[in-house]
Amino acid sequence: MLIVAALQVAGAPGRRTPTLVVHITVDQFRADYLDRWRPQLTGGLAWLLRHGAVFTHAYQDHAMTETAPGHATMLSGRNPHATGIVRNDQGVSDTTAAGRLVGAMGPGASPWRFRGTELFDWIAARYPDARALSVSRKDRAAILPVGRARQPVYWYAFGRFTTSRYYEDTLPDWVKAFNLAMVPARAPGRRWNLLLRPSAYPEPDSEPYENNGRGVTFPHDLPADSFPASIMVMATPFMDSLTLAFALDGVNQRQLGRGPAPDLLAISLSATDAVGHAFGPDSREIHDQVLRLDRYLGQFLDSLFRLRDPRRIVISLTSDHGVTSYVQWSRAHGDPEARDVRADTLIRAVEAALEARAGSGRWIRWFELGMLVMDRPGLEAKGVDVDSVVANLATRVRALPGVARVDTPRGLASADTARDAVARRWLNAIPPDLDVELCVTLRPHDVWGPTIEAEHGQPSEDDAHVALIIAGAGVRPGRYAKRMQVADLAPTLARLIGVEPLEKLDGRVLTEALAR
Ligand SMILES: [Zn+2]
Repeated sequence: MLIVAALQVAGAPGRRTPTLVVHITVDQFRADYLDRWRPQLTGGLAWLLRHGAVFTHAYQDHAMTETAPGHATMLSGRNPHATGIVRNDQGVSDTTAAGRLVGAMGPGASPWRFRGTELFDWIAARYPDARALSVSRKDRAAILPVGRARQPVYWYAFGRFTTSRYYEDTLPDWVKAFNLAMVPARAPGRRWNLLLRPSAYPEPDSEPYENNGRGVTFPHDLPADSFPASIMVMATPFMDSLTLAFALDGVNQRQLGRGPAPDLLAISLSATDAVGHAFGPDSREIHDQVLRLDRYLGQFLDSLFRLRDPRRIVISLTSDHGVTSYVQWSRAHGDPEARDVRADTLIRAVEAALEARAGSGRWIRWFELGMLVMDRPGLEAKGVDVDSVVANLATRVRALPGVARVDTPRGLASADTARDAVARRWLNAIPPDLDVELCVTLRPHDVWGPTIEAEHGQPSEDDAHVALIIAGAGVRPGRYAKRMQVADLAPTLARLIGVEPLEKLDGRVLTEALAR
């Protein structure tokens, strides 16, 4: 890594407005990952830890801790109750013409469900010439950090970076060229081996439950054939390297950070999530993934600092959610009761009973990650006493082994949200126009089943506590242990670049981390 001593004087009087905000999301980056392997970090994560304001108690302070709600929160300054992005299944999917992908196969996507504004809208309100670029392997992770802005937004679909018609009708030449040259060069025949010697990894390499029982040990090889390799690369560290190379190309092509307006580069790196789901947060694979991510980020920042004046860059790094250990791991490491909890039989029985009373219909809209949404007006119109149906179900769900608590929105409304983090996180997850009937929370090491992967989605410490670092122009480096929420990031970045939010936020400016 370059030693950017100049950054130390960035807080000095007379500093100029930053010309580039680089927002990096590491998907499924639990807070403890930064400390667990700290002595082995030498690249971008090490640089951020040394030069940044490190928030050790940062939370995605909402329930339904998934990719879409997490990404909608970080640059909007608002939790899902306000962004309307409650869960992945109602994130960015769009089956209309606007959602159609450009030159690629795959599910349509656009930000049509997203409500309100984000950091880039605030920038553009003051600086109409400001530019943004958002890239990720995942559609939702590329789209949601810039809200509804029609700026270039690209994600990876079946072996190439693409966008949807909401943004553009054709791909620019640089994106086409990157797809032709870089994707086939980086995946086929690659071998994922350990970065360091095996004794540097305390984690066991081989646990039978990992990766659905297949290929649980190093090395992990990609096929020689380019199409399957371009798909399978998504589950390896190489995907992050590819995404960062694409982002850097975009900085050049879009001339981001040349000023005078502050531009926004949003990058969401998805490989940690893929590796974490398949192998779990306690695996040798996740350890190696984080080390490789650190090296890739180091190369990326080195290249960026050669292209643009580091004294005029603000960098943030955070995550959309954490992850819970495999229940098999938890059982062997201090929680013999850990389990996956299944409520599908109960829910199906209620569905059948409602159909018998009210006729066929989608009376239960969904029961996912503990959130039950019903068609209350429809059922009431059919004369069904919804309160008694819900109360009855609540009693039966509460009796399931692994269920810690069952709340109703009405009960949550009178909770002490300063002390009761679970109640607060559920309230932060529920938009006013959603008919949520029950909020079911599991014990800390339990997950909703059936599942063959390590999972997230609970309003728990493991799933909500994430890494958060802000570095660069105007930031006071240090470690900050006060509890904060990821929704604080957007107003803080706004303050650093001198723009004002356009609406009421959940987050506050982290003034303690600003250079005076
Ligand atoms: Zn995930």
